[in-house]
Amino acid sequence: MSENKKAEKIVAVKGMNDILPGDAHLWELFQNTAQSVVQSYGFQQIRTPILENTGLFARAIGAVTDIVEKEMYSFTDSMNGDQLTLRPEGTAGVVRAVIEHNLVYEGPKRLWYTGPMFRHERPQRGRYRQFYQFGCEAVGFNGPDVDAEMIMLCRRLWDDLGLQNIRLELNSIGDAEERARHRVDLIAYLESHEALLDAEAKRRLHSNPLRILDTKNPAMQEMVNNAPKLLDYLGEESLAHFNGVRKILDHNNIPYTINTRLVRGLDYYNRTVFEWVTDQLGSQGTVCAGGRYDPLIASFGGKPTPAVGFAMGIERLLELMKEEGEPEQPNLCDVYLVHQGEAAQLQAFVLGERIRDAGLDVIMHASTATGAGSFKTQMKKADGSGAAFAVIIGEDEVANHTASVKAMRAAEGEQQQANVPFDEVVDFLVDQITSDGGHYHVHDENCNH
Ligand code: ATP
Ligand code: MG
Repeated sequence: MSENKKAEKIVAVKGMNDILPGDAHLWELFQNTAQSVVQSYGFQQIRTPILENTGLFARAIGAVTDIVEKEMYSFTDSMNGDQLTLRPEGTAGVVRAVIEHNLVYEGPKRLWYTGPMFRHERPQRGRYRQFYQFGCEAVGFNGPDVDAEMIMLCRRLWDDLGLQNIRLELNSIGDAEERARHRVDLIAYLESHEALLDAEAKRRLHSNPLRILDTKNPAMQEMVNNAPKLLDYLGEESLAHFNGVRKILDHNNIPYTINTRLVRGLDYYNRTVFEWVTDQLGSQGTVCAGGRYDPLIASFGGKPTPAVGFAMGIERLLELMKEEGEPEQPNLCDVYLVHQGEAAQLQAFVLGERIRDAGLDVIMHASTATGAGSFKTQMKKADGSGAAFAVIIGEDEVANHTASVKAMRAAEGEQQQANVPFDEVVDFLVDQITSDGGHYHVHDENCNH
């Protein structure tokens, strides 16, 4: 190897993103808001493994789907030959866990989950190979009320996040029998327009014709628009369920459009399907998709248990939050501790812990390759941190048992600096920060920033 050859850079896997500190506040804001919204509806968290046996997804998602046909990261465990897959979505794992632990034994459950999902897709804006979802599954409830509740929960989340440009599309895909009758007519219709079908549609014509309805191919739009509509095939019970959902949404002034082409091309999905869509993200405009899947749990050998759920794509929602006015970067801390000399540093450590005990965020100045840093350098760092106060300890301060407390954001004419005995620094800071009408903030557990 040549001596002066530079070490090769290691880069991330294509389509898998680092989430850097500059974006962390957005992720935290989303996470905290979503969590408090679902909690306000009584949902409990469930955390399942990122790896599952491949067979789970093939069965839960359906063999003739984009995900199972071409998007899964599957591999053989070299230790024991197990076929494993990085989860491409969350429902399958949740359903497995519900059955495995007989979670509905004591009654129905409202569950939520979040975490990374993996799909081998062509990376582009809003479409990644590792992406994050936040989702809910309500298991054991069969009525339209819970479908409506889930939709209203999403609406509350958009409101709380300040997102105004998301609209709701709604449809019902009935039950298996109703779909079977529709399928016959749909295939006949598609066959009579065979010249218009693209390769993918031709391939799916007999395996998953429903899925052809949500094609994005512009040349096929008019043809699929005029295809037989599943809604016209619904029997009494499915219609009553659909109307039940609509009634609650209407009564609560939740606007929606009925999109008869909205489908889930899987056998175990039934009745209500919905999507939340925005026009502000180009072609990756679906931020949340959900629906009922009453037959799934029984098809896995579990006790027949109705279920409904949704999953939202967090990256797309964060992108939308940025479009609609990015929230400010929070300050790194309330207090920056400036110190010079060994005795001062020891004192600063003690003081730093006491200030944190009072609920404030503190950054201790620490030395770097260029040294411990002059007072001037340290004050610059203090300023850059956004801290409300710098607490300064030098030799004189150690000798006098006092710290200099400098207000970094004081308005003109306000007192800028005070000498405060060590013992009184905490009270002084808390006093100043809480008496400032919220201009500075004390961190408590209810404070999202
Ligand atoms: P699409 O039609 O965009 O491929 P999908 O039907 O595959 O979506 P779902 O499986 O319903 O998507 O997943 C729910 C949500 O997760 C989507 O609405 C989207 O917001 C998000 N999502 C799905 N795939 C990706 C991805 N590869 N990258 C980022 N977000 C994604
Ligand atoms: Mg997809």
